[in-house]
Amino acid sequence: MTIRRVYLDNAASTPMDPEVLQYMIPVLRESFGNPSSVHDHGRRLRAVIEKSRKEIAQLIGAAPAEIFFTSGGTEADNMAIKGCAAIGIEHFISTRIEHHAVTHPLEELEQAGKQVTWLPVDEEGRPDLDALRAALENGPRAMVCLMHANNELGTLLDLSGIADICAEYDAIVHSDTVQSMANVRYNVSAMPVHFLTASAHKFYGPKGVGFLYMRSGTKVPSMICGGSQERNMRAGTENVASIAAMAFALKKCYGSFIEKGKKLLDLKNYMWEGLQARIPGIAINGPTDFSRAIPTVLNVAFPGGDTDSMLLFNLDINGISASGGSACTSGSVKGSHVLSGIGLDPARAANSVRFSFGVQNTHDEIDYVLEKISGFIKVPAPK
Ligand code: PLP
Repeated sequence: MTIRRVYLDNAASTPMDPEVLQYMIPVLRESFGNPSSVHDHGRRLRAVIEKSRKEIAQLIGAAPAEIFFTSGGTEADNMAIKGCAAIGIEHFISTRIEHHAVTHPLEELEQAGKQVTWLPVDEEGRPDLDALRAALENGPRAMVCLMHANNELGTLLDLSGIADICAEYDAIVHSDTVQSMANVRYNVSAMPVHFLTASAHKFYGPKGVGFLYMRSGTKVPSMICGGSQERNMRAGTENVASIAAMAFALKKCYGSFIEKGKKLLDLKNYMWEGLQARIPGIAINGPTDFSRAIPTVLNVAFPGGDTDSMLLFNLDINGISASGGSACTSGSVKGSHVLSGIGLDPARAANSVRFSFGVQNTHDEIDYVLEKISGFIKVPAPK
């Protein structure tokens, strides 16, 4: 008997769009030169890279020279944060619920003697803006690192408002936009941010490729030394086919922005309504007002005594893939730093599962998931 498979872990990684794959294959097959070579084979690849850079820049309102290709979101976050430390920034402001691609470099800097202010957050994961102002007022010129959309809760911050506050204090603004890049239409020319980060495998592109937007005038040194690729910002032969595929994937997302957003929100609403109808006492972790979140993420706390590992095991044996926390921490025995960071009590955090949606998901798949969940979840008896 074949088990039906339903993938609801799109915040961890999306499946590759077949059109993106089709776009990538000829680049892999035919473009075997090195883009740094000056002969024809090299020049063709250079042209592919520069076309992709221009396309991405246009989509987000940047100049091509402000886009730097990386191996993904983690590298782009590290480049921005460690780069700012290297140019002498002494004060960093962030929260404990950022992705580890941000908290870990910041913790490393803190251990090395830099000042890191960890802002308090509310129960939906929004930073305290009075505390942000106080931190900006009281320290040297700061770098502020606040993710636009939280990967576990879906919470979307008012990034423009935050950037405006930071601009009053001449602070450098970095936002991890890995989860929001394909869900929010960016125009960096109208928003005073200095660094944004993206990763193609979160928007139906290949894994292992991403980019850093770095506002012109904000120069940081390279983390990886070697050749002069990426205008001396990131040495190493470029991942040309993946870069081309990433640009194509982002263009596709921006091309069907509204329809995709509507579809994802419909899936999220459908799942949430279905869960509420079947499981009394189920609750949302993160924004209950879905207009204040990205439509891809639904994090719920199940009532009763099942731990998330038991819940995930039951989902998995029924062919359903979801996540107990961020994919990067799953498999580790530590609970989610995001759920504990918003003050969730450990028992509720341990009963929580993140479902995350992609444009390929259907109501029929969600019906299947709801039916299976109703079969194994233990609903506590009313008191
Ligand atoms: N930032 C956020 C918010 C993420 O969700 C992820 C991946 O889960 C990353 C950064 C890391 O991106 P990558 O997997 O491309 O290194």
